Amino acid sequence: MGWVRNLQRELFTKGGVHPPSNKIAATMKIFPGPYPETVVIPLSQHIGAPCEPLVEIHDRVLIGQKIGDSEAYVSAPVHSSVSGEVTGIIEYHHPTGVEVLSVQILSDGMNEVHPSVEPLGDPMEMTPQEIRKHIRRGGIVGLGGATFPTHVKLAPPEDKQIELVIINGAECEPYLTGDHRMMVERGEDIIEGARVIQRAVGAERIVVAIERNKPDAISVMKEIGDEYGFEVAVLPARYPMGAEKTLIKGITGREVPSGGLPMDVGVLVDNVGTAAAIYDLFYEGMPLVDRVLTVAGDGVAGHANLRIKVGTLVRDVIDFCGGLVGEPGKVILGGPMMGLAQYSTSVPVIKGTSGIVVLRGETVWKREPGHFVCIRCVLCVRRCPMNLMPYLIGSYSDAGMWEELETLNINDCVECGCCAYKCPTKNPLVQLIKVGKEGMARQQKKMEELTEALDKE
Ligand code: SF4
Ligand code: SF4
Repeated sequence: MGWVRNLQRELFTKGGVHPPSNKIAATMKIFPGPYPETVVIPLSQHIGAPCEPLVEIHDRVLIGQKIGDSEAYVSAPVHSSVSGEVTGIIEYHHPTGVEVLSVQILSDGMNEVHPSVEPLGDPMEMTPQEIRKHIRRGGIVGLGGATFPTHVKLAPPEDKQIELVIINGAECEPYLTGDHRMMVERGEDIIEGARVIQRAVGAERIVVAIERNKPDAISVMKEIGDEYGFEVAVLPARYPMGAEKTLIKGITGREVPSGGLPMDVGVLVDNVGTAAAIYDLFYEGMPLVDRVLTVAGDGVAGHANLRIKVGTLVRDVIDFCGGLVGEPGKVILGGPMMGLAQYSTSVPVIKGTSGIVVLRGETVWKREPGHFVCIRCVLCVRRCPMNLMPYLIGSYSDAGMWEELETLNINDCVECGCCAYKCPTKNPLVQLIKVGKEGMARQQKKMEELTEALDKE
């Protein structure tokens, strides 16, 4: 019980904020979402190489059939979430704001499942290599929003021994309750999935991390934990409690080094949704074709936790929940702190979509364009969970001083938005940090090219 004992030392003292949680859907059971007439499934829904289409227009496809893949190791195949006819292979809107090659499928309403979808056998009898191979075939990626291919995460280099698997059920973003409900309703499946992860990396222990504002999930997971011999870490309810590095520091007392990864301190963090998807893959044979997400906000008629087929258009989900209410303000995919605001509701739900938050026009705070104004109150510094100096990063980025940004560890920023949330002059700090990261990367590339050219002379 050593890991959890560390929690009592109250290591969660630095940074973070307390935005209104607005977790109105927390008591709502997960229901199946709409059966869309058409889905548009992007061939890139993960970090890494995009997939190539494996189907052609007019092909008939079935649920669970692979429709796109790549030869690259860091990639994840995509599968059809409906049965029906491929009606287009098109460049289509993607939640990240770009156009992405996507497979458009007209559903036949038959929900016919592909014959390859069948239980894979007992993962506890499989080697780590076999487990990783299946996970890649199943298109599993991190469902907390990062969408990093899980088979890659489960293959740390030989010199990085994983001792602890943390199953992240913190779900600290306002409005979002899908992970919470999954723990209440699918606790055992999550643990079976976590055991597969544990076997793949040879970890000694599993800890499920849950914020203390989810007492029902804590009690379910503790009961199952006693049976399976894993621990539940009860975390303070503070945003961004679920950020990987914060979680690791809080549970183990270990600090992931700047520019490092959790594996550098012997830890692997996976989301509860990812563990449940691994369960579905091994025990039901179903690749990642749907996911649980929360629909919430004062701009949508109904709140819900829904199991949504990947490729369902956001507007179909909003209509399913009773449609928009009031003057439309903002539609965010994910939570309001780290999610992506959309310019259209025609974008599809992808593997990484944890929520659809709809806010009315009058609720949304609009910033007038203007200069970076800083009164040096250092509230942003006090609230930054990564010990950064957001006001300096923001002002350097605003001035295009890319070289100076290197000294401020800008790449350690997890883009949680705590600094911007607290800033009294409402500086767009996260936006400036994103711009700064890109500017610094461009500058570094330029310097590398210059050095290379000089070396050749
Ligand atoms: S600088 Fe980055 S990590 Fe720190 S509070 Fe701001 S967004 Fe979060
Ligand atoms: S919170 Fe805003 S005003 Fe205060 S120091 Fe940071 S950037 Fe400046």
